[in-house]
Amino acid sequence: MITTDPEKQIPVNKEDLFKNVISHSKEYGFIFPSSEIYDGLSAVYDYGQLGVELKKNIREYWWKSMTQLHENIVGIDAAIFMHPTTWKASGHVDAFNDPLIDNKDSKKRYRADVLIDDHLAKIESKIDKEIEKAAKRFGETFDAKMYRSTNPRVLEYQKKIEEISGRFKTALTNNDLVEVKQIIIDCEIVCPVSGSRNWTDVRQFNLMFSTQMGSVSEDAGTIYLRPETAQGIFVNFLNVQKSGRMKIPFGIAQTGKAFRNEIVARQFIFRMREFEQMEMQFFVKPGTEMDWYAYWKEARMKWHTSLGSPMDKYRFHDHIKLAHYANAACDIEFEFPFGFKELEGIHSRTDFDLKSHEQHSGKKLQYFDPEENKNYVPYVVETSIGLDRMFLALLSDAYKNEVLEDGTIRDVLNLPAFLAPVKAAILPLVKKDGLPEKAKEIMNILKFDHLCHYDEKDSIGKRYRRQDAIGTPFCITIDHETTDPSSANYNTVTIRHRDTMRQERVKVDQLPGIIEEKVSMKKALKSLEA
Ligand code: ATP
Repeated sequence: MITTDPEKQIPVNKEDLFKNVISHSKEYGFIFPSSEIYDGLSAVYDYGQLGVELKKNIREYWWKSMTQLHENIVGIDAAIFMHPTTWKASGHVDAFNDPLIDNKDSKKRYRADVLIDDHLAKIESKIDKEIEKAAKRFGETFDAKMYRSTNPRVLEYQKKIEEISGRFKTALTNNDLVEVKQIIIDCEIVCPVSGSRNWTDVRQFNLMFSTQMGSVSEDAGTIYLRPETAQGIFVNFLNVQKSGRMKIPFGIAQTGKAFRNEIVARQFIFRMREFEQMEMQFFVKPGTEMDWYAYWKEARMKWHTSLGSPMDKYRFHDHIKLAHYANAACDIEFEFPFGFKELEGIHSRTDFDLKSHEQHSGKKLQYFDPEENKNYVPYVVETSIGLDRMFLALLSDAYKNEVLEDGTIRDVLNLPAFLAPVKAAILPLVKKDGLPEKAKEIMNILKFDHLCHYDEKDSIGKRYRRQDAIGTPFCITIDHETTDPSSANYNTVTIRHRDTMRQERVKVDQLPGIIEEKVSMKKALKSLEA
């Protein structure tokens, strides 16, 4: 991301930043609450005219990085509805549960694991505060690492974290819901709404949405809206391998909608009930999966950091409890305005899925390895990212309020130019004297390559602000000199750069080259191979 001048940015606390991002998204047509005229639908959102462009560009960057840059990765688009046995085989019918707990006083429902995670995060932030205070006290000579490993109070907090995480991990592994509740009681966790500790027992809640297929109710069967796109890839493993003559290792990529009846859906588009995933399943020879797991961890982190957010916004988080199908798993976490949270998961899924589909379908899902001269069920390494979460990560990092030299404030989205919804705004200085006609002429040259906006309303300053607020990398202004054959600036325009607000005069016929150079996805894709 091209940074705007940090000196100019108005510092805002994270809570306000998040509120501002949400209202900005609505005001400029990025995201609207679903069916808003009926007061919305909880945790469901619609993408507006600019949101859909940004989302499409992120999807395209992911898609190309997978399918275009890897000769051995191909894409598919499987249906949302799948045979119901799919979900029995995948383990979702029996195990796609979240532990749920209600507060009897507020009647609010929570995920028990999230209450405990939040509690752990609070202790962690106490440690950070201690370190911050000490850093101020000791000045330049302060050694944070040393302080962390020797200060009695920090050690006490650390011990508490380890104790709780240990108990929690064991409880999850043993599916011991009584113990999960006991941890909540022992940690004195209160309901954020009622402030009370009057909790119900913890119970499991299946997150899949079900519906009926078939028009006559007697023969209608229960089917599910897919809770992940991955299974559409597994059931097509042989179709793709055979029809594409794919040789192991190879990958199948897919983007598409997934549905989960989340218990607590909050934090805007971070946790939705209908969302989009971008998943890739990489099929490998058994025994090589850990090498590929390491490969994809690095490759995916590179993809994220190619988008220009600082490195310290990302971190890996290893799973404490592995899912039933995994032998290694981690998340790439991003620092959202509400803290570090999962953005993408990388999982070594072993041969669990293909084997289970073999058992349930009675069909062989194996690969004949010509080098080994034998059949085997491949192992799988998966990368799985939420498109909506990626959208939120980009938007919350790109959104800035800046104080300009004249004291006015501008909202700017300094999105990577190749992802920006609109690439250039074409602005005639005034609505007369042939300037709109010239502007339209320029628009007609550029529109075949890029989404451009034509705008002739309001002062030029206001129009610049509108484009800054939606992240348009270039504003192109057509003035009287542009159309005056006697002027030295005939057939030139002013091009203004979003981040620096620098303006330069360029020839009209230079415009396609200047824009292309900055907004092309090619450079970012190339950086992934560097
Ligand atoms: P979480 O722990 O946040 O519920 P998860 O571990 O269940 O996520 P996965 O099943 O690994 O998530 O799904 C892969 C990716 O899909 C996640 O990293 C996330 O980006 C996205 N995702 C999952 N659930 C949601 C949701 N309810 N809304 C938006 N994106 C989601």
